[in-house]
Amino acid sequence: MTHPRLKRHLTLVAHGPDVVELRHGVLSPSSVTLTDDTRSGRLLRILAGLDGCRSVAEIAASQDLPEDDVAAVVARLTELDLLEHGSGHALDHYLDRLVPGLAAQEMPPPEAVTLLGDPGVCEGIARVLGDEPDIRTADDRLRAALREIARSEPLDGLDFEEAAEPFAPLRDGFAVFAVDAVDPLEFRAFNRVCLHHRVPWIHAASDGPLLLVGPTFVPYRTSCYGCLETRLMANMRDSAGYQRYKNALAEGRVTTPDTPLDATLSAMLTSLTSFEALNLLRTGTSFTAGKMLTLYLPTMEFAFHEVLRSPSCPDCAPAPEQDDTALYYDIRALLNDADGPA
Ligand SMILES: [Zn+2]
Repeated sequence: MTHPRLKRHLTLVAHGPDVVELRHGVLSPSSVTLTDDTRSGRLLRILAGLDGCRSVAEIAASQDLPEDDVAAVVARLTELDLLEHGSGHALDHYLDRLVPGLAAQEMPPPEAVTLLGDPGVCEGIARVLGDEPDIRTADDRLRAALREIARSEPLDGLDFEEAAEPFAPLRDGFAVFAVDAVDPLEFRAFNRVCLHHRVPWIHAASDGPLLLVGPTFVPYRTSCYGCLETRLMANMRDSAGYQRYKNALAEGRVTTPDTPLDATLSAMLTSLTSFEALNLLRTGTSFTAGKMLTLYLPTMEFAFHEVLRSPSCPDCAPAPEQDDTALYYDIRALLNDADGPA
């Protein structure tokens, strides 16, 4: 580090020439206080000199200080990770400091976005993402195909592959599935389709007094909708009721309320979801990768919930026998011996 600089978000709070606090944050600040026990009166001057324009030797010379003293302070600050060099900016700081888990799920930024769901919300998101390169709004046929999968018996093998075929074009990007009212069967079907085609997608919905944004599902890397549901069921007091609701949906006995999202709520869902979509587009990751943001409207509580992969997820957990190997012998070896080398 030739020209050390205190990280820009730090504020120097001098309690005296030998006691200096380095503080960051406004509402809930965190700080480090450095004290020079030798009372040399040099600490504040050294810290003030760390502006990124001068080397350790130059700072020492300009302040008429021993170079060793400056080097010692720099070494201590390096230890505390409070120095930087070269250009840095607020976004870097935000990513490094406030969202340490964000980079963990990183993937190459996708090039296209497909918006699927209820028109009100999708139009809003398309408007916000307006300048992005490739935004497609899925047509009604795709939604109908999804409903078909959701309402039919669980499809297996070839049947499912055939039913999922219309979704193949989603592969080159990611999808946003945003709706006014939650239909778990539809989400579940979309989850299967996206796992099949390996399409990352963002879940966004209004569920009674809750707005749900995320998780951003990255197939086989983060949790999937099946994991989310498994975990919700495990925490639900009345999971049988939820199951009954899903059955009623499958039988077509549920009528969705004919009241579209109130404009304000719709705007909130739109903007929060768009932000996540933008994050994914620009950086290949988002705040809701493996996390769900909920907004509980009666008390305006924002909360992030970690949604970990579930080992018993019916959709993305590996089948227990998948990686089994023969314990003591390999039957193929016996067969080969009997018939000569294969
Ligand atoms: Zn899963």
